[in-house]
Amino acid sequence: MDVYRLYENENEYADMDWEKCAEHLAGYIRCVTVSYIDPEKTDYREFDKLHELIRQNYPHIMKKAEYQEIGHNILIKIPGTDSSLKPAMFIAHQDVVPVTPNTEKEWTYPPYSGEIADGFIFGRGSLDIKGMLAGFLESAEYLLAHGHLFRRTVYLAFGEDEEVKNTGSKTMGQYLKSQGIELEYVWDESGRIRDGACYGAPGIVIGEIGMYEKGYADLSFTAHAAGGHSSMPFYGTSLGKLADAISAVTGNPLPAVLPQSCRDALRALKPYITEEPLLTYVQDIDTYREEIIAYYRQNKDLFNLVQTTAAPTMITEGAAAGNVMPGDMRAVINFRLIPEDTVEKLLAHCREVVDPKIEVDTVQAINASKPGNHKSYGFEQLVSSLNHFFPEIRFIPSANATSTDSHNYECICGCCMRFTPFVQEPELIDSGIHGSDERLFLRAYKQGIRTMIRMIETTC
Ligand SMILES: [Zn+2]
Repeated sequence: MDVYRLYENENEYADMDWEKCAEHLAGYIRCVTVSYIDPEKTDYREFDKLHELIRQNYPHIMKKAEYQEIGHNILIKIPGTDSSLKPAMFIAHQDVVPVTPNTEKEWTYPPYSGEIADGFIFGRGSLDIKGMLAGFLESAEYLLAHGHLFRRTVYLAFGEDEEVKNTGSKTMGQYLKSQGIELEYVWDESGRIRDGACYGAPGIVIGEIGMYEKGYADLSFTAHAAGGHSSMPFYGTSLGKLADAISAVTGNPLPAVLPQSCRDALRALKPYITEEPLLTYVQDIDTYREEIIAYYRQNKDLFNLVQTTAAPTMITEGAAAGNVMPGDMRAVINFRLIPEDTVEKLLAHCREVVDPKIEVDTVQAINASKPGNHKSYGFEQLVSSLNHFFPEIRFIPSANATSTDSHNYECICGCCMRFTPFVQEPELIDSGIHGSDERLFLRAYKQGIRTMIRMIETTC
């Protein structure tokens, strides 16, 4: 996909010191802020290094805003003059995932070098998501330096452990809640751009803004058995029973639905849809609801928007030899839940479709987050800021199949939006995030920062 033809107004904010923006980000990448489930393994000195750089790099923020470290989280408040306006919040996380051992040679430059070369900034965290952390800081600094009068209070919040537990954002969300604060909108990472072909609108580019996060559940399925000689499988084997259970679950998914966000997305795309069968379906979404659901379900880009997915991921080893029946066998199926399905409902459903002798347990689970309102000031303004710099992208409300920090602010905000404004080739994004040779295109970095400045400038 040639994404750079989508760029417009790259000459704006021409007096921004773009070189400095890149150098700042390179410095943040050099802080190895890897987070681990076990906090004992996390090297917090790297977070301290990052904090020190941030405090040095933004003199106007440090002078005019309230800067706080809560644990290793950063919360910055730029007070607005109009207390009748609900604050806006811009978030990103400080932590990154580790580099997979033995993949270092797949990197053009060492993963934490922050090398600026060939039009890119290289390094772990450049795409996920220190670019956004730096971008929000550069934007706020730029506006403060230019004497922008903040009417709406702005918060910048950078959590410490999004990649593992989201406890940092939870702490900050609860802290703000305890102060009685309610937010107008939150802007966070994620979302994606893609060709409109899956919507019967080939050639147009769609920007999906995640308005909620799907739920997550690892359920274990255990088939008990004593084992024995495999010549006498009178009752079958535990492995066979477990296989039956897995196919019962994957073959009997919870019913698919057409959520409101999908209806609104289709409505927004209607003028661009040129291909059947969606061309007919979008004329009357209610009448063709079942057909639309069926269409989504057989489409690899859309199926997970209308249903809870089930992915069998783990199984214990079987017997020690081919002629021995195994004892207890256990498998894990990973589910991603739509908001209509709760963990409780999923558990009951699984127990109903598998043999009653199969034990079904929860390993870990969390319900889907609450869908944010996309018919809102925040969504409208975000789309308008993005469209100023990417006029050809059609932005639609969508869902995040993965988790991020935003759900921890839903308790104080009805409009949490997930979209990373660094528009570069989707293939580079997919291979770089949590993968090898992660790198952010400098032109995308600058254009993303322009959208951030504009969003803050126009709404705050
Ligand atoms: Zn991230």
